[in-house]
Amino acid sequence: MANNIESLLKGLGVQNPPHGVSCGGTWQPGAGESLAVCSPIDGKCLAELTMATSEQTDQAIASAAEAFVHFRTRPAPRRGELVRRFGGQLRAHQAELGQLVTLETGKITAEAVGEVQEMIDICDFAVGLSRQLYGKTMASERAGHRLAEQWHPLGPVGVISAFNFPVAVWAWNAAIAWVCGDPVVWKPSEKTPLTAIACQSLLQTVVAEFDDIPPGISQLVVGGAETGKQLAADHRLPLVSATGSVPMGRAVAVTVAQRLGRSLLELGGNNGMIVCPSADLELAVRSITFSAVGTCGQRCTTLRRLIVHKSIADDLVQRLRKVYESLPIGDPTDPSTLVGPLVDARADAAMEAALEEARSQGGTVYGGGRVTEAVPIGGIYVQPALVEIAADAPILQQETFAPILYVTRYEDLDGAMRVHNDVPQGLSSAILTRDAAEAEYFCAAAGSDCGIVNVNIGTSGAEIGGAFGGEKETGGGRESGSDAWKTYMRRATNTVNYSGELPLAQGIRFDV
Ligand code: NAD
Repeated sequence: MANNIESLLKGLGVQNPPHGVSCGGTWQPGAGESLAVCSPIDGKCLAELTMATSEQTDQAIASAAEAFVHFRTRPAPRRGELVRRFGGQLRAHQAELGQLVTLETGKITAEAVGEVQEMIDICDFAVGLSRQLYGKTMASERAGHRLAEQWHPLGPVGVISAFNFPVAVWAWNAAIAWVCGDPVVWKPSEKTPLTAIACQSLLQTVVAEFDDIPPGISQLVVGGAETGKQLAADHRLPLVSATGSVPMGRAVAVTVAQRLGRSLLELGGNNGMIVCPSADLELAVRSITFSAVGTCGQRCTTLRRLIVHKSIADDLVQRLRKVYESLPIGDPTDPSTLVGPLVDARADAAMEAALEEARSQGGTVYGGGRVTEAVPIGGIYVQPALVEIAADAPILQQETFAPILYVTRYEDLDGAMRVHNDVPQGLSSAILTRDAAEAEYFCAAAGSDCGIVNVNIGTSGAEIGGAFGGEKETGGGRESGSDAWKTYMRRATNTVNYSGELPLAQGIRFDV
């Protein structure tokens, strides 16, 4: 393990050199295959881990199930207190955790620290929520009856996360799951297990302060797709929350559905933005650039399709090309960098292949080449690409997880709306306009068919207060704020009869 990683992890409370699995508070060496964790910054190996075996994963799930029996009876505000203190740990270690996120994912420091901030924010939200798990009281049709609902803990939740948000997505799930009374079994991406190990360690520090909360409420299993499949198949996990590509989600959904479990899917996006003639072009350039090249185009909410009114398209493309040509690309730990590396060679190959396909479909490509000067050796650095292309080019249907922005032109808003919605995915969307009617149309029933619908901001950078997720092949799941917590609980409808009579619902007579 590289020295600076070792000291970074120690600073985050990781005592033993990390191995594959953490059950109920103590590290156990994984006995499975070895896993080299490399930094996208320079391709260097950060750590060699061993992955959890299926027996160890089984044990982690068993420990979570055991912890649930006690945890579900702790008052929700008490569980909220746990989350409050965990948020305190995150605040205290925000900078180091951000550093680790940058090392493992290659995202720039500002975005990495922002990701940790997102964890802090969801903890704050969850603490408040722990006193607001409201059930409704309904008017009963029967005299002397009370009809009401209660929300109860569901059970251990399996969380499978993707590499690009290695900790925030887990926190969205875990902070809410814990206040709802559910232990969490987390399988992070095999590309980013170190941030997961650090978070688990911080959490365990907090759990140790409680004598009424079992340490088994947080389980971490380091493994690859096989471990994810095992979580999906295990009936002791009534809910599996899976974030990643559409093929992964499809596989998880089928497995979980087969055992009639609940899945919460957060899958790929292919996010579009309509830019109308009245849009503020200065604001447009800034919001488009952040959405399209932030995290080097590796956000689920990355802007991938720009649908611009023909009257402003030339002007906007010129402005964007100018900004793209001067983007600071390079070492993500350098505060002046805005675009870090791609995660790995596979991402690079996917980007090259998509650009080739776009050219063969009549697209004109600006940028998109490799950057080799003034960047760390060993990492894969690319110039974000702008591609002018026809709206019906087949390449626009697919999410390529790299900084490629397709630009198409429209004549009327109905046509733009059709182009916008005509993709299999439905995560995030935006319209830039100063015309209130256009903005309302975009937000209304016949407008954007996505889960996230923005006006005069880009497609990425959501706040935790809203429910996050998307429709169609994005999977339909909702995480984070609003009432997303309901997925993590079971609803019990209570009818209490205090009348001394036995009137039946719907006026049915059943005299015996
Ligand atoms: P990925 O699908 O390759 O991997 C995601 C996770 O799934 C990893 O932990 C992986 O080990 C696991 N996995 C892979 N195959 C599995 C299987 N058959 N069964 C169970 N688990 C399996 O995705 P990635 O490359 O890490 O992330 C990029 C993708 O994630 C993009 O498509 C992006 O849009 C999507 N994403 C979506 C959201 C969202 O909220 N909608 C957020 C982040 C990323």
